[in-house]
Amino acid sequence: MASVDGAVLQDWVSRFRDEVTEQKDWLTELDSAIGDADHGANMARGMNAVAERLAGGTPETVDELLKTVGMTLVSSVGGASGPLYGTFFLRAGMTAGAVTELDGPAFAAALRAGLDGVIARGKAEVGDKTMLDAMVPAVDAFDAALAAGGSPAEAARAAEEAASAGRDATEPLVARKGRASYLGDRSAGHLDPGAASTAILFETLADALSG
Ligand code: ADP
Ligand code: MG
Ligand code: MG
Repeated sequence: MASVDGAVLQDWVSRFRDEVTEQKDWLTELDSAIGDADHGANMARGMNAVAERLAGGTPETVDELLKTVGMTLVSSVGGASGPLYGTFFLRAGMTAGAVTELDGPAFAAALRAGLDGVIARGKAEVGDKTMLDAMVPAVDAFDAALAAGGSPAEAARAAEEAASAGRDATEPLVARKGRASYLGDRSAGHLDPGAASTAILFETLADALSG
């Protein structure tokens, strides 16, 4: 697939909803070790609200679709993850613009803008044991695969692999941002829940782009 249109994005969002719902107990279990045991519930609630919102009809343009996802997440999720994922989709939408499809580089730019929004909002960096530990390598891998001549679907597979490696790499880390940082050294030895949901975000993107 050479371009990313509204149908593909809607499919991504719907797969992400299905998968966080499926993995809800696992995400919550990860958050019960180093947080407040609500990450699975937060993500499932947020994405179900998104699905309800979009059931009324697909927005005409890519920016409208992505901004709707972002605004719905911000307003329906109380935890840290709502505003952070919300910002990701809002910023991605703003950069995508009022178009009906994006080519590979335009979609990469939207993903990069989403990532930059999460960094600006949460002020975390790679190694702080947050969703950024999966998101930064994922977006970097997406860009690198495109630059090497890959299709958006191939780039998304590379992003998925980088995100899951990034998720796994959070296990030994001591958290420096978010609730888990209150635990200090005791946060080591557990996967970060937000990095786990971000790995799902890129897994479902790759699935949506491969049709
Ligand atoms: P809360 O911590 O408010 O209960 P969630 O449990 O839904 O919210 O989400 C927790 C996840 O949010 C963490 O595992 C981490 O990945 C992510 N997170 C928390 N703070 C930040 C931050 N400042 N920057 C990036 N990600 C963060
Ligand atoms: Mg939590
Ligand atoms: Mg919470």
